[in-house]
Amino acid sequence: MTTPSIKLTQKNESKGIAPRRTFGCNGPSVSVFTLGTMRALNSSEQMYKVVKAAVLAGINHLETAPAYGPAEKFLGSTLRRLKAEGKEPREGWVITSKLLPGLTFSEGKKQIKCILNRLGIPKIDNLAVHGLNLKEHLDWASKGEGADILKWAKGEDLIGQVGFSSHGSIALIQTAIESNLFQFCSLHLHLLDAKRIPLSKIALDKGMGVMAISPADKGGRLQDPSKTLISDCEPITPLELAYKFLLEEGISTLTIGAFEPKDLDIPKKILEDYCSLNEIEKQSLSKLQKNRELRLGTNLCSQCEACLPCPKGVPIPDLLHLNNLLVGHDLQAFTKERYNLIGKAGHWWQTKNASACENCQECIPRCPNQLKIPKLLKDIHHQLADKPRKRLWG
Ligand code: SF4
Ligand code: SF4
Repeated sequence: MTTPSIKLTQKNESKGIAPRRTFGCNGPSVSVFTLGTMRALNSSEQMYKVVKAAVLAGINHLETAPAYGPAEKFLGSTLRRLKAEGKEPREGWVITSKLLPGLTFSEGKKQIKCILNRLGIPKIDNLAVHGLNLKEHLDWASKGEGADILKWAKGEDLIGQVGFSSHGSIALIQTAIESNLFQFCSLHLHLLDAKRIPLSKIALDKGMGVMAISPADKGGRLQDPSKTLISDCEPITPLELAYKFLLEEGISTLTIGAFEPKDLDIPKKILEDYCSLNEIEKQSLSKLQKNRELRLGTNLCSQCEACLPCPKGVPIPDLLHLNNLLVGHDLQAFTKERYNLIGKAGHWWQTKNASACENCQECIPRCPNQLKIPKLLKDIHHQLADKPRKRLWG
């Protein structure tokens, strides 16, 4: 599998691609933006405002989960309120919810019934395994109690398509896509981290729907970009360029975790006047790539993963990706936050940081770019690791 950079992976000559795309072989069409409900959690009024803004922007796809706290409860009351006001997508809402892997059969049945109850709907259009991050999660869904839950829910006509979201390894995601168990997937697909784009192509070629997880926030906090990134993308904003890049790659739909209605301004603008990348946008992409290469020079990690496995379990590509973002785009706050989250997020992120490197040098001959990996790891730890805080007493 190739590892694309910011450059587009295929030539796309089409113009005026419809702002609705099929999502899975037999699934309903969805808007190219999906409202993620994980940020409108303060009150049902906040949820109402963002969902109303979404329908007015032309969005028909909502993404939620029991793990998002009160999101489904707030969403259920919002859907009833908007129905009473006659503010719904013409073809109705498409709703995706998720189940954490590892539930027993009885817990899974109960959870699906609770989702339906909270949302006030008879059937969940799309049900995803929430965080298929480890092999045991795939085993749970394919031959464990997860498989029994999904079979039961399908038999009862309580769910439509089955999919998964993953923060796991490329190999695991590819295995899940090729298992033929799933009709859609939600992946980390980003303008500044395009290594999973080839996976999305495999999924799309199989007829699966592909949803990009949080291209703004998880893509480098593009809603609050560095001055360097703004200048590299000019005259387009980094966020708009990221959305257009992913849509050009054929991604079915992009999630927007809106906190307030104005977070939907850019998606609304794109939905109103969608067209393929124009020359100015293509030039911005080239400028972004060129400047990143210039700044990183011989330290640019192409994310090929040839250096793995490290005997000490150091996640070299993920750490050097942070270096790409820090040196290539000056994303200081984002990279610092991601680095210091290592070891604190269970299976949702890496467990070892650069300090686990023991300088054995095994990885160096495997790197096609001859990167001085141990030195880069030492530097990145020095730049990003939080300094131990001084105790105020004791
Ligand atoms: S030099 Fe460090 S990162 Fe490379 S293989 Fe050895 S321990 Fe792992
Ligand atoms: S360090 Fe080298 S081998 Fe490892 S992912 Fe980066 S470019 Fe590839």
